[in-house]
Amino acid sequence: MSKNPVFDKIKYFIIDMDGTFYLDGNIIDGAMDFLEKAKSVGKDFCFFTNNSSNNVEVCRTKLHNMGCDVTDDKIVISSHVTIEYLKRNYPGKTVYLLGNERLTADFENAGIKLVDDNPDIVVLGFDTTLNYEKIRKAALYLAAGKTYIATHPDYNCPTADGFMLDTGSMMAMFKASTGRSPLVMGKPHVTTVEYLTRKLNCEADELCFIGDRLETDIAIGYDNGLTSVLVLTGVTNLDMYARSKVKATFVANSLKSLSDEL
Ligand SMILES: [Mg+2]
Repeated sequence: MSKNPVFDKIKYFIIDMDGTFYLDGNIIDGAMDFLEKAKSVGKDFCFFTNNSSNNVEVCRTKLHNMGCDVTDDKIVISSHVTIEYLKRNYPGKTVYLLGNERLTADFENAGIKLVDDNPDIVVLGFDTTLNYEKIRKAALYLAAGKTYIATHPDYNCPTADGFMLDTGSMMAMFKASTGRSPLVMGKPHVTTVEYLTRKLNCEADELCFIGDRLETDIAIGYDNGLTSVLVLTGVTNLDMYARSKVKATFVANSLKSLSDEL
């Protein structure tokens, strides 16, 4: 039994990284202790990031450099959800991918056939190498009615010096040009829940999503009737939360204070 019955049936905490586990290159105080506490009460965890410009190696190295060592299976990215979705639903179909070299390599290593011309599917990832020619081609394919999938919906990605335009902003651009909106894979969408239950071999109500962003980390719980925890170490404060329609199951100052609930 957990101290807080909300967490009794939880088997896996799905933990956001930026603003939840670390901030500005440092692990947030008490976050490592949360992982230990979870293990000590028989629960497990995965990190989940929507940021499809990174691969597992980048995430693992970043955590390692901050003093947290995890195995590759503990790191899940929206790109993994997308790749599995393509393989399950569109086997053998060709993809025009908007993605950087890491995302491209992940798709190729998974056996997805990438093409420049006449694709079956356009996949929009967090392409940090995006240029006008790629945008132009993608818009033509979308206008021609090709299947359209995006890895995640975030408008901006936080960086040390502010933010970078993220995939959601590119979705808005393509919508303006072509009227098309994609099927979205990462948080808060149900495709991520389905992926995690298969990967972790558990039921959806045995997952608990923890994060700092209401429209992704918390909405995935709220929209799908699952447990979620908002931590106040990142982009959301209590005033913003009070105004939000999206509500968490539990609000914790930090992962450190959440440890006391287990
Ligand atoms: Mg975050």
